[in-house]
Amino acid sequence: MRFLITAGPTREPIDPVRYISNRSSGKMGYAIAEAAIEAGHEVVLISGPVDVDRPRGVAVIPISTSDEMFDAVRRHTSRCDILVMCAAVADYKSAKVAKNKIKKRGENISLELVPTRDILASLPKDRQYLVVGFAAETENVENNAQKKLREKNCDIVVANDARIGMESDENEVTILFRDGEMKRISRDSKRIISRDLVKVFENYFEKRLTKKKQ
Ligand code: C5P
Repeated sequence: MRFLITAGPTREPIDPVRYISNRSSGKMGYAIAEAAIEAGHEVVLISGPVDVDRPRGVAVIPISTSDEMFDAVRRHTSRCDILVMCAAVADYKSAKVAKNKIKKRGENISLELVPTRDILASLPKDRQYLVVGFAAETENVENNAQKKLREKNCDIVVANDARIGMESDENEVTILFRDGEMKRISRDSKRIISRDLVKVFENYFEKRLTKKKQ
């Protein structure tokens, strides 16, 4: 299978030296990339700025902003069998990017934020590849993930509690499938969880192929 995986945070500039970002380390996406390579798949990894070693055999496309991530995903989906959106794409960006560094003054200032384009939600409905979204939540993890599965038209959503998975080497996930099925993977290293996830994706892909042939 040909995997297209996104990983890490995005950076949304405010001025030439400042940006809005989040604490995503990229570890989960990189671990999935590594597990997919180990299982004999082809992997393209679209990565935000992270401090993780590039897995051997993976083609890495570095991006910084959500708009760059959007374009890179759109460019590469035509050549993938599965898109795994593990990146923590910023939901908001600054309405204006100042050309010069914003000067410190003694008064309050406010920053207008506008929504970024939602990459998952913008994918075509009739597509050939599988789409896996990630949901990192701090409350109502499963309910929010169910909602995401429907609203973003994903085949699978992998839900995790951001308080366990963010920045950490470990995670604990619940996998939600479009047909209502659910599978839990209990707390373990991201490396081990990724091996299980790749198997789940392979099975789902096989099942879909068999269904199509019938
Ligand atoms: O809605 P929320 O951002 O929590 O959804 C998370 C999922 O949506 C992740 O799979 C993430 O990669 C994806 N996402 C996206 N485009 C955005 C924000 C998030 O595709 N602008």
